Amino acid sequence: MNNLLLLSHDSELTAHDSQLLYSKKPIKKLDFIPMPLPQYTFTCTQNREIAHDVHELKFSKPAGFTFQPGQFLMLDVPSLTDAADLQPRAYSIASTPAEEEVIIGIKIKHGGRAGEWVKQTLKPGMEVAVKGPLGVFLLKKETIRDYLFICTGAGIAPFRSMVKAALEAGESRRMDLVHGVCEQQDFFWKEELDALAETYSNFHVHYTLSKPGPEWQGHTGYVQTVVPRVIENIGERNVYVCGNPVMAGDCKRLCLEEWGIPKEEFHMEGY
Ligand SMILES: Cc1cc2nc3c(=O)[nH]c(=O)nc-3n(C[C@H](O)[C@H](O)[C@H](O)COP(=O)(O)OP(=O)(O)OC[C@H]3O[C@@H](n4cnc5c(N)ncnc54)[C@H](O)[C@@H]3O)c2cc1C
Repeated sequence: MNNLLLLSHDSELTAHDSQLLYSKKPIKKLDFIPMPLPQYTFTCTQNREIAHDVHELKFSKPAGFTFQPGQFLMLDVPSLTDAADLQPRAYSIASTPAEEEVIIGIKIKHGGRAGEWVKQTLKPGMEVAVKGPLGVFLLKKETIRDYLFICTGAGIAPFRSMVKAALEAGESRRMDLVHGVCEQQDFFWKEELDALAETYSNFHVHYTLSKPGPEWQGHTGYVQTVVPRVIENIGERNVYVCGNPVMAGDCKRLCLEEWGIPKEEFHMEGY
């Protein structure tokens, strides 16, 4: 089943479904239409550490490559010892379609294949085989609700794209973004998000640290505990959650069972 994009008419294609394409697990749903998955060669133009163990990668956009904010890519990542030994890894696109380059933010997992490749091998000028774009974690434009984005760590990536693109396209409804990391050194794209909040009065960003130092003046604790403190009308929002699966699962339970958000107004991408 490799290299197929599966489309289903009764359910959305989730990131998990997309990852299944690369596993050998049998796929039980029968109402799929197999489609070739677009493939591109991206050229790296930048690999820079922008926060503690976070690298921002930039790639020049190959001809014909288009995507929607919120989608992700599968990068063919080589092992450190054999460039021909490739395995796919998923990364959300953090740039907007209007930006010249494709931007990805990677939280380095030490000992991980992609983490070590980004730290030790990937340099500007190198080519990377990419499949995609994939995923249906997209901004629901038809909702009448204000937006709420909740994320931890690198889960900020699809929201950088979604929020920036929506604001630049003239979206005027209220958008709140709650971003949680462990320590202050873990924040990235903060200046850019703060600048967006300065420019657009309908965009509000709230930061929280789970392990704050004495100098931190902002919110503290997990995003799940900060959301009810900063959002008055949670139950009336269209909600997007992205980040580690434990946080995402916890937010899902809170949104659907405690905060009164209807299922169709809740969207989640677990890393
Ligand atoms: C839809 C989607 C979008 C995503 N977008 C992003 C994104 O924008 N940014 C982002 O950072 N991540 C994102 N991820 C997660 C990403 O796909 C990878 O899972 C992540 O980067 C880890 O990959 P890796 O190859 O470095 O680790 P892997 O090789 O997959 O290893 C997984 C874990 O095992 C540990 N491990 C593996 N081998 C060893 C070893 N020999 N010794 C010690 N420990 C070891 C690693 O430290 C790591 O914690 C996304 C995931 C999904 C599903």
